[in-house]
Amino acid sequence: MVFRGSLAVMHLFLFSHKGAYTMEDEKDMCPASIFGSNVFNDSVMKTRLPKVTYKSLKKTIEQGLPIDPSIADVVANAMKDWAIEKGATHFTHWFQPMTGITAEKHDAFISPTNDGKVIMEFSGKELIKGESDASSFPSGGLRATFEARGYTAWDCTSPAFVKDGTLYIPTVFISYTGEALDKKAPLLRSAEALSNAALRILKLFGNTSANHVTATVGPEQEYFLVDRGLYNKRLDLMLAGRTLFGAKPPKGQELDDQYYARLRMRVSEFMHDLDYELWRLGISAKTKHNEVAPAQHELALIFDSANVATDHNQVVMETMRRIAKKHGLACLLHEKPFDGVNGSGKHINWSLSTDEGQNLFDPGKTPRQNAQFLLFLSAVIAAVDDYADLLRMTVASAGNDHRLGANEAPPAIISIFVGEELSAILESIETGKPYEGIERKTIDIGVTSLPNLPKDSTDRNRTSPFAFTGNKFEFRMAGSSQSVASPCYILNATVADTLSRFADRLEKADDFMSEVRAIVKETIKKHKRIIFNGNNYSEEWVAEAARRGLPNITNTVDAIEVLKEPKNIDVLARTGVMSKAELDSRYEIHLENYSKIINIEALTMIQMANRELIPAALTFLNQLAALNANLKSAGAKSKAASDLLTKVSGLVDDFEAYTIALKDAVEAASAIDNPKESAVAYRDKVIPAMANVRAVADELEMLVPENIWPIPTYADLLFRV
Ligand code: ADP
Ligand code: MG
Repeated sequence: MVFRGSLAVMHLFLFSHKGAYTMEDEKDMCPASIFGSNVFNDSVMKTRLPKVTYKSLKKTIEQGLPIDPSIADVVANAMKDWAIEKGATHFTHWFQPMTGITAEKHDAFISPTNDGKVIMEFSGKELIKGESDASSFPSGGLRATFEARGYTAWDCTSPAFVKDGTLYIPTVFISYTGEALDKKAPLLRSAEALSNAALRILKLFGNTSANHVTATVGPEQEYFLVDRGLYNKRLDLMLAGRTLFGAKPPKGQELDDQYYARLRMRVSEFMHDLDYELWRLGISAKTKHNEVAPAQHELALIFDSANVATDHNQVVMETMRRIAKKHGLACLLHEKPFDGVNGSGKHINWSLSTDEGQNLFDPGKTPRQNAQFLLFLSAVIAAVDDYADLLRMTVASAGNDHRLGANEAPPAIISIFVGEELSAILESIETGKPYEGIERKTIDIGVTSLPNLPKDSTDRNRTSPFAFTGNKFEFRMAGSSQSVASPCYILNATVADTLSRFADRLEKADDFMSEVRAIVKETIKKHKRIIFNGNNYSEEWVAEAARRGLPNITNTVDAIEVLKEPKNIDVLARTGVMSKAELDSRYEIHLENYSKIINIEALTMIQMANRELIPAALTFLNQLAALNANLKSAGAKSKAASDLLTKVSGLVDDFEAYTIALKDAVEAASAIDNPKESAVAYRDKVIPAMANVRAVADELEMLVPENIWPIPTYADLLFRV
């Protein structure tokens, strides 16, 4: 692929000898000289594999073909030798089960010999396939129906890499009978469906040289950094990833003095180390800056294929956590670590590219290129409108429920921003009336050239959940901690399905261009309700969207329900991305996961209340009681002292009562067998009970002296980095 090849060129092979340089030495080296030094990438394969093997593997990678078993031993051996030179002693099949994080089991390369020694070995069989006990990973019922055994299978389209003395081999994780147990298998299936459908369209436009179409993805990752010492004093941050208590500090983000602000020394050093670590892993960390909230930052990578971008984003999140620890910091990837300041998201930039490097969402210059662009654009508009609920589901999580619709992230309503210019063009196409742009003319697809779409004017609307930004789309609803896999495979699958429908019509058409015109026109007419260029954060939009009949799915439990919709089951089955059984299993996994997260949060809250906060409040109450007694025996009077005693006494009583009520709510919710009903109880009973506990605790925090309150405050966490 063109976009990946260019990165591989940057690798200069300066460090192919074992352990010669440490990270410290590399700190100030030119990124070009270390980029990809720990990746078994194209240039390494080229120099280390026999020519025929290289060619065969390359073809497999580029065209997504099954691996030829006869070359596996050769590749495995070359990989092992290279990894050992990089200091590796182990290999691991690295996979992405439904836990949301990655999994790895390390095996040493050693193999015993007759003389009591070992040699370093790695076979093609070990490279291609691994066996793993699937029963310890979420399978949502697939386990009951099928076997407990799970398999990991090498995904050669994402390069292997060496990290911490282990060779990491990206793999898919599937059941004995081939059901996906992970997020990568559906992603790879969707990539294939998309490529096939897009190629059919390209052929009709006369492009016979493209062999493959790839969804390209560039994620922008937001995160918080807090002091590790303070983090360690907060059980909620450690167990739930977010603060469950904490009064608002006198200063938040209201001065807008954080965004793009100068980087603090410790943060800057962290980012520097992070960049180098990622570059060595061939991950193109590009843009870094401070974000809107205090202690919040962002890192964007240069785009790659959706599959590689997904793997890289997982490595980015893990590496952020690890490097933060080295700098005495803790990296928070939760969607809403702090109440009252912005949470963190992950913007997923998505486009389509041919293996020849043509971006299919680049409007182009000639009428024919424009027509092709408009057809692909129509496919996205139709797919996003038809499957808005499914796309919404891909970003649903307990953490993201705090953000979506909270005026810091897009609402829970999906709409597409295309900008005024393109909107006017689409309207002209639909109505046949002249386009009211700079050049007043009627847009005839395939005949007139589209006016230039200035890229800058397309990217102004930051409130849109799904924005066309000149030559790509930016999906802005994803949560910071989630994998980008599911938004990508749903987009890929639904767009592939729509393109296939278009191709069916176009392949039969007598007059190709007039059929293109008809499809584009019909699509705009039918799906224009999904286009919205205004302020998505406004209340008017919520009302307007309801009038337009757009789904507004406000919480995770409701979002999960869309996996039961026949049209959603059908589109995933039709494109071969997911079977009904796989989808059913995911329905259960998502519900259980939601309930488990709220359960952990509630139990953490109860523990902190009972063992830390209520005792602290009682300590203060005791001091106040003693103070009032002393005053009384001295014959003195203090209204302040007696008022405070009454107030604190009342609040502590409430605190205890609300904590007991929360405990009851959790016990009731967890006792429900039915996963849906249990999740509903967590949403409707446990979450409100948590809010009561928090409100009273936060009020007490403002009254109890600093030296008694046992946990770091928001001001400590946000401003003492
Ligand atoms: P911003 O959204 O902050 O204005 P940029 O426009 O620079 O930032 O792009 C953000 C992200 O979009 C980057 O990760 C970049 O690699 C990615 N991107 C750019 N072009 C494409 C593309 N054709 N396909 C997928 N991602 C892309
Ligand atoms: Mg962006």
